[in-house]
Amino acid sequence: MPNQPISGNDLARFSGPQTFMRLPSVETAAGLDVGFIGVPMDIGTSWRSGTRFGPKQVREQSAMIRPYNIQTGAAPFDSLQCADLGDVAINTFDLAATIDIITDTYDAHLKHDMIPIGIGGDHTMTLPILRSIARKHGPAALVHVDAHADVSDDMFGSKVAHGTPFRRAYEEGLITPSKVWQIGLRGTGYSADDFTEAAGWGFNQHLAPALWHKSLTPLAKDIVAAIGSQPTYITFDIDSLDPAFAPGTGTPEIGGLTTMQAMELIRGLRGLNIVGADMVEVSPPYDTSGNTALVGANIIYEILSVLPGVKYR
Ligand code: MN
Ligand code: MN
Repeated sequence: MPNQPISGNDLARFSGPQTFMRLPSVETAAGLDVGFIGVPMDIGTSWRSGTRFGPKQVREQSAMIRPYNIQTGAAPFDSLQCADLGDVAINTFDLAATIDIITDTYDAHLKHDMIPIGIGGDHTMTLPILRSIARKHGPAALVHVDAHADVSDDMFGSKVAHGTPFRRAYEEGLITPSKVWQIGLRGTGYSADDFTEAAGWGFNQHLAPALWHKSLTPLAKDIVAAIGSQPTYITFDIDSLDPAFAPGTGTPEIGGLTTMQAMELIRGLRGLNIVGADMVEVSPPYDTSGNTALVGANIIYEILSVLPGVKYR
């Protein structure tokens, strides 16, 4: 039997290891199917910081999640060997160095045949992760759930920041532009084409107002059909959700997705060849209730539940 989260009936949920879902903490990805990796950084943010505390609080809130997904029948821990690989040892004074440290750490873990699930951390982290993913799998399809397109050319002249990762990923050929979905975009911009330039590259963009009051299950089905078997990365910015559901984030935008829509979307992605995922932009200082991190932890669990090889009961 693969690793199991410690049961809340054996050891009280408010005690035990501070790992994702109280899974074992391991040093190496050898033998793993799935590894959870914290990326405690916020030095790529432009407005409110605090995501350096994201991995800690998401892990803390994950302690209440039980192993079986009663609603969908998914039993991820029946067939996948999962563990927590700890945090990337970033340099909190040096963004450029941190970017390379993240890629190096992922490269080392991806020597093993393992699906990394990153826990952030600000969205800058997804660029160095995609560099490593592309090195292993080739250009990836991308499901990017976010209030923002994150395709700015620079921020304060810096080419790498949390508003630029997907322009860089496009320029570097890390992703297949026609196989990119950006879901939940909204808010204000600096110019009318802030988002839409990327549509010209081939990105499939779904602005939040077009999704209001709708189920996201049909969209998920369309994405699965269009991507087929191509290696796919899922990046989930918690600010895709309405601030009513996820206030603890750096750049909140009103009129966002609901948690129910997020669950429909992720559940509908079952069947994709998912090779990695991340949950980014959870900023605990802006939601001391822990609710934003609770939502983040549960969405990570939903992603885990649709990974290749998960058995359903
Ligand atoms: Mn983002
Ligand atoms: Mn965002």
